[in-house]
Amino acid sequence: MAILELLYYPDEKLHQASSPVTEFNDELKKLVTDMFETMYADEGIGLAAPQINVFKRIVVIDVVNERKPEDQLVLINPEFISKEGTTGIDEGCLSVPGLRGKVERAEKVTVKAQNLNGEFFEINADGLLAICLQHEIDHLNGKLFIDYLSPLKRNMYRSKAKLLAKERERQKKQQD
Ligand SMILES: [Zn+2]
Repeated sequence: MAILELLYYPDEKLHQASSPVTEFNDELKKLVTDMFETMYADEGIGLAAPQINVFKRIVVIDVVNERKPEDQLVLINPEFISKEGTTGIDEGCLSVPGLRGKVERAEKVTVKAQNLNGEFFEINADGLLAICLQHEIDHLNGKLFIDYLSPLKRNMYRSKAKLLAKERERQKKQQD
């Protein structure tokens, strides 16, 4: 298991769309294990592969965040079948640290995806899970929650992002 390096806003790569997964092999299983590890290390409830610089349609979610296998959701090549209603909460993102903002989302969603063996399944969700699914699937299409916020809020965050990047750089040097 390994904790992978995250990409951070405003890295342009986060706006790149990801390609479908076609091979369901051991490499994919290992990647998913590492994605969970990376997500838990940062106290996240969801992570999409482009956030770790892998441009494949892979999402991991655990809205309970107690590291129990029964709560872990792996979605390969997820697609919305339906969306209804509207809701919204203050969202955050591991790639956009130190920022939260309200985004309008569908209240209920049905998603079709494949599991690690390539088998198709459907999931109906509402509440936090429905919001998380929309946030993570957005990542696969190169969209971030900050893109929905006002240009003013985005610009204010850009200067904060620069400071955070410097801080990460400094910590990294200390570890070396
Ligand atoms: Zn995110």
